Amino acid sequence: MKSDIGVIGLAVMGQNLMLNMNDHQIKVVVHNRTTSKIDDFLAGPAQGTQITGAFTLKALTDRLERPRRIMLMVRAGEVVDGFIESLLPLLEPGDILIDGGNANYVDTNRRVAALQQHGIHYIGAGVSGGEEGARHGPSIMPGGAIEAWPQVKPIFQAIAATVDGVPCCDWVGTDGAGHFVKMVHNGIEYGDMQLIAEAYHFMKAGLGMSHAQMQATFAAWQESELDSYLIEITTDILGFTDDDGAPLLDKILDAAGQKGTGKWTGINALELGIPLTLITGAVFARCLSALKPEREAAEVLFGHKVEPVTGDQAQWLEALRQALLASKVISYAQGFMLMRQASEEYGWNLNYGNVAMMWRGGCIIRSAFLGNICDAFRKDDALPFLGCDTYFKTLLLRCLPAWRQVAACSLASGIPMPCTTSALAFLDGYTTARLPANLLQAQRDYFGAHRYERTDRARGEFFHTNWTGSG
Ligand code: NAP
Repeated sequence: MKSDIGVIGLAVMGQNLMLNMNDHQIKVVVHNRTTSKIDDFLAGPAQGTQITGAFTLKALTDRLERPRRIMLMVRAGEVVDGFIESLLPLLEPGDILIDGGNANYVDTNRRVAALQQHGIHYIGAGVSGGEEGARHGPSIMPGGAIEAWPQVKPIFQAIAATVDGVPCCDWVGTDGAGHFVKMVHNGIEYGDMQLIAEAYHFMKAGLGMSHAQMQATFAAWQESELDSYLIEITTDILGFTDDDGAPLLDKILDAAGQKGTGKWTGINALELGIPLTLITGAVFARCLSALKPEREAAEVLFGHKVEPVTGDQAQWLEALRQALLASKVISYAQGFMLMRQASEEYGWNLNYGNVAMMWRGGCIIRSAFLGNICDAFRKDDALPFLGCDTYFKTLLLRCLPAWRQVAACSLASGIPMPCTTSALAFLDGYTTARLPANLLQAQRDYFGAHRYERTDRARGEFFHTNWTGSG
């Protein structure tokens, strides 16, 4: 009996996606470089399922219905190119190759074009939700060769998470658009996590709260507009105790790791000229955290200590909640600005409402307010900045006084909150008609004859001044 799809890769994501496919009566054949893992999988987690194993790529391709559908769930980068090279002689025009890993979208652009030359349809699909999502319903963001979408759609939409009956998976766009949107998703994840960490720091170092108090606060926030997976797991983490009864969180080294998707998002923003201050700030916050020995020495050198935050604790916590919410809006707003610029630059015609819909369930950044983002773009797909939507404008204006209070207090108390404060600076900049960039232009013209436009002349007319009167 032929299989519906072949999956290559038996690490955490591949295993769980296959079990999820099996739950939906999709017949899967699996291959893995280390073939002993195929036996282990079939005799272990896949026992009693319809999943079968193929010990060679030839056996895998022989066992598939035509056109063949093969999904790579292997380490991103050169490993993917290696599998493409090995599979190519075994495939026929019309076959479909899917990369479900965290590929860089530039690599996916290249692979889609290269495989098109051979008549193979290549799909780059971002898959989010980690192990749990892969097993029970991830968010899937596919892009690439649209000709293959009708063949892939029934499988992906069956295994994806659903919210209100709508699958968290839809076609994103051509080339590497799917992997691009997944990259921005991961960047936003960095931002959300950093903002929550800053709120935790304010509570702990500034307000001197216990873990139980912080846990109760996050649990209450989960009942507000902040309702999200990341707030939910933060609540759990704060309540988790080690074997000795002490909070485990206190024993975890404060040096954050990263795998690169946040960095790629920041690099892309710099290339496209989009002020993605919050996500890049979150990446840099992780870089700063990694300088642990240097920070320890510098704390002593500077005698740094946090000034306790005084005043009514309940009022501060509500102010902090509003600061977190408003900062989060800015983060998403910047992420959508980046996607808009990329869509225009690369001709992807992204549907922003659909992107928000795909992120409502299954993925790490799933949250209630993605529904509001979806509504905003459904009302006006050309929205230049999320804050221009009435719902988000009202929210930002409502949170603004408390947000300023928290930002000012963090600076006065010595609590680093780089993303909360830079989000506010972004909004202040975005809503300021006249910025001091006139001085930058004058300086550029002074030292480099870069020329400037004038406010009293038409745009596009450039002037140079001999600032020193010399020559
Ligand atoms: P992974 O650890 O990224 O990769 C392991 C898989 O790659 C194994 O099947 C391994 O085969 C294969 N592999 C590694 N080096 C190889 C090589 N030189 N030649 C051939 N095969 C090689 O697996 P994962 O965590 O399940 O992730 C799979 C993909 O999904 C990655 O792109 C990852 O970034 C992405 N992703 C992961 C998560 C997550 O939470 N883990 C979430 C979303 C997306 P062997 O068994 O033979 O070593």
